[in-house]
Amino acid sequence: MHHFIHLEQHYCAHNYLPLPVVLNRGEGVWLWDVEGKRYLDMMSAYSAVSFGHCHPELVAVLTAQAQQLAITSRAFYSDKLGAFLRLLCEMTGQDKALPMNTGAEAVETAIKAARKWAYKRKGVPDGKAQIIVCDGNFAGRTTTLVGFSSEPQYRDGFGPFAPGFVNVPYGDAQALEAAITPHTAAFLVEPIQGEGGIIVPPEGYLAACREICTRHKVLLICDEVQTGLGRTGRLLACDHENVKPDGLILGKALGGGLLPVSAFLARLDVMDVFQPGDHGSTFGGNPLAAAVGHAALNLLRDQKLIEHAQSMGAYFMQGLRAIHHPAIRAIRGKGLLIGMELDPHLIPARRFCEELMKHGVLSKETHDTVVRFAPPLLITREQIDEALHGIRGTLYAMPAPVAHDMHHA
Ligand SMILES: *Cc1c(COP(=O)(O)O)cnc(C)c1O
Repeated sequence: MHHFIHLEQHYCAHNYLPLPVVLNRGEGVWLWDVEGKRYLDMMSAYSAVSFGHCHPELVAVLTAQAQQLAITSRAFYSDKLGAFLRLLCEMTGQDKALPMNTGAEAVETAIKAARKWAYKRKGVPDGKAQIIVCDGNFAGRTTTLVGFSSEPQYRDGFGPFAPGFVNVPYGDAQALEAAITPHTAAFLVEPIQGEGGIIVPPEGYLAACREICTRHKVLLICDEVQTGLGRTGRLLACDHENVKPDGLILGKALGGGLLPVSAFLARLDVMDVFQPGDHGSTFGGNPLAAAVGHAALNLLRDQKLIEHAQSMGAYFMQGLRAIHHPAIRAIRGKGLLIGMELDPHLIPARRFCEELMKHGVLSKETHDTVVRFAPPLLITREQIDEALHGIRGTLYAMPAPVAHDMHHA
């Protein structure tokens, strides 16, 4: 175990602070370390593994496609991309999709689309387009994206940053309306802030934003990289308020837990601002990604995973709320995207995750105070009971707090 940790620490940049566990096998909701100890995965690789680890159907599609044709670049057509994007558009109600690989790239794509739409369709003077974003946002780690983050650590040392972004408080529709000017191209928002600490906005917020954006001819672009594809108990988190965004960003689970697959989807008049040569990606939309993404969407539809996530999420949340421990400040979330906020003076979130690991459950803190519970969507009631047992056991076995124990991840 220590050998692998030392090797990785020696040769890999220290841009993460992993829990001290070395994994080498996964199946469904389970992970195994190199010593054969089994863990319940409550992280799902930041929600990328919604279908569980190494889903046999998805692995079969991946291996068959890898043996047939994997990467072509979009210099040519393939027999896989069109059918994948048709299903993606049909399921989400959008007109067209632009395939990328990571979430950050898909958000960058959305920003380019929104700006060009503002210049070509809305008549915003060249170079003046503004995009409104929320405090507490997370959109990825490119220099443009961290430039509008409100998290000091994400920005520190990485400037200068791209102009053209305006921050407003999250969950406050009036603040959005007040920030809109004739130069506003889009409002970019997560229906639930995942990395921000599983922050659920007040009910009606997204619907109010939809109405405001429509009235001011501002694009509503929802970043559902984390909340999309069943995670919150609906196909899209927007669906909870029957909101249809003008642009939609998907990633993470779209790759079936096997590959990085992301997409920006939009209405025709938005997507049509892209002309050949305007934008691209060497790997975006490759046949391997398209085949796996297509199979992942089919799984989501055929296996009633979304309804399952809804009922399992409610069951999990109820179980967590029944734990009355003084360190728990709040339990919040939707579906199987759940955050447990701890009082850091009693139990720092990082220490909790380290102890939880010893109880056979893996998760990771976000910020110093929130522990995330986002298991694969196919988790069963019995497995949730097992997780709850581990969580309860960890809380009540935690040693007394020590001031110097505070960590920053
Ligand atoms: C994870 C995430 C991203 C970035 O995705 P990457 O694949 O890590 O680039 C963007 N937006 C949201 C809401 C995310 O949770």
